[in-house]
Amino acid sequence: MLTDKLPVITIDGPAGSGKSSVGKAISRLLGFSYCDTGAEYRAVGVICNQRGVDLEDPLACAEIAAEFAAGFSINKPGGILYEGIDLSELIRTSEAGMGASLVGRHQPVREILVAHQRTFALEGCCVIEGRDAGTVICPEAIVKIFITARPEVRAARRRETPAEAIARRDRIDQSRTASPLMIAPDAIEIDSSDLGIDEIANHVHSLYKERMYPR
Ligand code: C5P
Repeated sequence: MLTDKLPVITIDGPAGSGKSSVGKAISRLLGFSYCDTGAEYRAVGVICNQRGVDLEDPLACAEIAAEFAAGFSINKPGGILYEGIDLSELIRTSEAGMGASLVGRHQPVREILVAHQRTFALEGCCVIEGRDAGTVICPEAIVKIFITARPEVRAARRRETPAEAIARRDRIDQSRTASPLMIAPDAIEIDSSDLGIDEIANHVHSLYKERMYPR
């Protein structure tokens, strides 16, 4: 390795931009582990709701996040197991997406989840996907991708989520004070609207090789 950057690929972008499909394809291609950080925010929101915790209360949500971070495991890419229960399906609903967006506004919640995600990043050889992967979780990643797609393409990919709900989530994610969704200055922006998943994954793979092992 001829670089002081970490062998990590971060993928950020809004809902429905294709980050999960691309992230999973890249992790398979390189044999890297994969961290879907959105799944963690979704799980915290779901557990808060199950326990009657107010999603507007930063400290109460942070308590749940701390318990969650100490006890959850990943049972498949994008899946979450907590207290012996597989939450993987439950966290994929449109309501869980909105709950994630609400708890994700709270800095105390973010600090707890980011600490865990950062530990994962420091192990290296991983793909980290979310909203702040390249800006906050792993600014030293050797390849940072920011994926976008046209609004109608994003809405079609998230058929279970009404377009207004996606737009509302975008607004919250971009305007919050705690780690808003933004493009890292050294990220490469990719519009996935008219590209295949494998095409993007192969491109990112080539970039990774060029940067890790420059001639
Ligand atoms: O990526 P996904 O759509 O599953 O994320 C759900 C929500 O979780 C996002 O809309 C965002 O509000 C929040 N999130 C976040 N930071 C991350 C990942 C997700 O705030 N790193």
